[in-house]
Amino acid sequence: MTKTLPIYSVTPFTMLDFPDKTACIVWFSGCNMRCPYCHNPVLVKGKGRGSIDEVMGFLKKRQGLLDGVVLTGGEASVYPGLPDFIRDIKALGYAVKLDTNGLRPDIIEKFLAEGFLDYVALDYKAPPAKFQAVTGVEKYEAFEKTLSLLCAQDKVAFELRTTVHTALMDEGDISAIIEDIGERGYSGTYFVQNFIDDNDRPTLGNIGAQERVLDIKSLPEPKGFKVEFRNF
Ligand code: SF4
Repeated sequence: MTKTLPIYSVTPFTMLDFPDKTACIVWFSGCNMRCPYCHNPVLVKGKGRGSIDEVMGFLKKRQGLLDGVVLTGGEASVYPGLPDFIRDIKALGYAVKLDTNGLRPDIIEKFLAEGFLDYVALDYKAPPAKFQAVTGVEKYEAFEKTLSLLCAQDKVAFELRTTVHTALMDEGDISAIIEDIGERGYSGTYFVQNFIDDNDRPTLGNIGAQERVLDIKSLPEPKGFKVEFRNF
């Protein structure tokens, strides 16, 4: 029987989304957040149209040609079928990267313990006071647990990233995140991504263009990690 997961589509090749690896990207429909700046409303509200068998067929053909698989969305961590899917992917010899918003620390804890992940990209959406406005959900505590879990281990490399739309977040918020992750001993790269308005692509909250761009020169120096700015 064809097994299903809400897979929206597969990007067959990327050299940009999994550090030091050639990879494909599996996009999942559905998300447990509602970020107003989200550029993927169709994907977030959609149901998915692919099957696991189709994706596995694709991955079997690419064995030896690609190093890894990026699981993104949407939010892949919400699906109960994901562990079996990852087991099957890893059995083919692929490394697995998970992009996550961090709302499922229980899943991340299990995946870390079982060796399911080779790399994690965690969205640090906003500090506690802005978390609901930026994500549509009041769940900073769940995100914070995921952040703590990742910071407390050194087996799986991970990166942190924040998208900034200045109608939602300002320099004080990004400074607070830089301070927080420094205090947690983070030693990787923190990516601060400037929201890009693309007239051809609607956003989940119809947020529109920014009136001003974040003043990155006013941010504090990171302690023990790097900050990289994208699209500024
Ligand atoms: S930007 Fe927000 S709503 Fe869109 S997929 Fe990511 S977490 Fe979900």
